[in-house]
Amino acid sequence: MTVSAPTDAPAAPLLRDRADIPARFKWNLTHIFAGWPEWEAAYRELETRIAAYAALQGTLSRSAVDLLAAMRLADEIGQLTYKVWYYASLMYDEDQRDNTINAKRQQVQILFAKASQASAWFNPELLSIPLGQVQAWMSSNAELAVYRFAIEDLYRQQEHVLDDKGERLLSFGSRFASAPVDAYAALSTADMKHPTIKLSAGPEIALTYGQYRAILATNRNQADRAAAFEAYHRLFATNVNTYASLYNSVLQRDWFHAQARDYASTLDAALHGNDIPTTVVENLIATTKTGVEPLRRYHRLRKRALGVDHYHTYDATIPLVEYDRKYPYEQVLDWLPASVAALGVDYQHRLREVLVGDWIDVYENPGKRSGAYSAPVYGVHPYMLLNYNDTLDAVFTLAHEMGHSMHTLLSNAHQPFVYSAYTIFVAEVPSTLSEALFLDYMLERATDPRERIVLLQHAIDGIVGTFYTQVMFADYELQAHRLVEAGQPVTADTLGEIYFNLLKAYHGDAMDYDEASRVTWARIPHFYSTPYYVYQYATCFASSAQLMQQLTSGPEADRQASIDRYLTLLKSGGSDHPMPLLQRAGVDLSKPETVRAVVDQLDALVTKLESAIANLN
Ligand SMILES: [Zn+2]
Repeated sequence: MTVSAPTDAPAAPLLRDRADIPARFKWNLTHIFAGWPEWEAAYRELETRIAAYAALQGTLSRSAVDLLAAMRLADEIGQLTYKVWYYASLMYDEDQRDNTINAKRQQVQILFAKASQASAWFNPELLSIPLGQVQAWMSSNAELAVYRFAIEDLYRQQEHVLDDKGERLLSFGSRFASAPVDAYAALSTADMKHPTIKLSAGPEIALTYGQYRAILATNRNQADRAAAFEAYHRLFATNVNTYASLYNSVLQRDWFHAQARDYASTLDAALHGNDIPTTVVENLIATTKTGVEPLRRYHRLRKRALGVDHYHTYDATIPLVEYDRKYPYEQVLDWLPASVAALGVDYQHRLREVLVGDWIDVYENPGKRSGAYSAPVYGVHPYMLLNYNDTLDAVFTLAHEMGHSMHTLLSNAHQPFVYSAYTIFVAEVPSTLSEALFLDYMLERATDPRERIVLLQHAIDGIVGTFYTQVMFADYELQAHRLVEAGQPVTADTLGEIYFNLLKAYHGDAMDYDEASRVTWARIPHFYSTPYYVYQYATCFASSAQLMQQLTSGPEADRQASIDRYLTLLKSGGSDHPMPLLQRAGVDLSKPETVRAVVDQLDALVTKLESAIANLN
């Protein structure tokens, strides 16, 4: 059976000069400053306050009032910093060819460096005051008590800070701590000799990572995908011992730091900052491993739908159907508020305000920054950069960034500045929940079975890529780090074996395996740049899946209670550690059922996809 029918690729909307795009599709940065003279004045004000802050050195231990003055001045600097930075940065992203604005942006970065030097005295000086003393001040001074969580967390972090001599010694090491990731970057990009490849149709092309991804996502000829996969993996196989040596340096460095700071393991060290128990990662990995059946079912379904005799990793991203419906921005503007009905009328109302407030830069123009983001400009409002091109991906990107913007809006409205920013551990909860709600809305209205298939594949691929793959990566990182912690050797063979075994543990008999997949680990940038980071995508996904269940099922009173809990989470910003914040929202990441929520979500989506494909015939 095959459900794919090639059609012409959809034409992107015409690229217009920025001046020709109507104002209602552009963000209005005068909400931050009326113009550059006002920005200049704020910049100078910021310089003055940074100098004033430096002058407070030596005053903290005098009294509650002195400490409060320093905390408040830091807040004022922070608030001004948001405006000064984002005015220049957002303006630059409108057209990155503008050197004058780029220079102003860099001017702010230089000021940031000065600010961090001018405030380096604060933490050691505060921590030299006994915690009991500071707590007594907070008990008697309500304004200072606002900073309780921030201050107590600094003391908590202090547990693993060494004495002056030890810290000085470690600081010497920090200069070569980035050597493995720098070498990885050089080897995998600057020094990379990309091969050329000749596909079944078209000219010979250079196989960059972008091209490789594009072939896997669009080329309907399996032999072409296989050729691209082999050629791309050969690039890493050629230098696999070098990659293994670099990755071993990352592992050894992490273990060195964990031991030097007296952590039980590298995982303990990595999770201490956000006060996450290691059981969260262990539970995530163990529960996901028992929930791989829906993943395998999806790949078996894909194999049948694509009509291939053998199904490989390079067959996992090609669309099941071609469907080129356009989703004009102004039409989606009506759908988006409707899609969040489950979150209540107040949330809907606020979301409409975001949409009509000239906060969103919608369309692409020459020189504009690519991609999409939500920028939390404290004291003003969130701004959103899009490159909206009428595709389904663009619609979901809008829903995603809207989740971030609503989080910012509610957090900034309800938290003092010091807690307005939220951690990455919580950040992707509202964005993925916003996408899930939008998917439900679209699925309810899709009448064309092909559109249903495209929507379902979009959602499923999101779960596969953001959840299953990231958990598998976290598992890989944990196993590799544990080798080093146990004093075991780390070679290209052992790393390849860990990766290959994981691939098989996840996909079972639903996939045909290629020896080349043994080196896939060598390419993953996060392994070198930010160890133990990617699991957070998966925990956010699990949190949002469980919230989605609570928000959309069960009796009315329960749903109302879960809306209130969810909105409280958004309003809480960074006022506590992520685990208690999520627990109050009804999500406990140390429990298997939270992770099971994603497995159940995938299971339901695959069942829907099966019937959508059956309906096509
Ligand atoms: Zn996001």
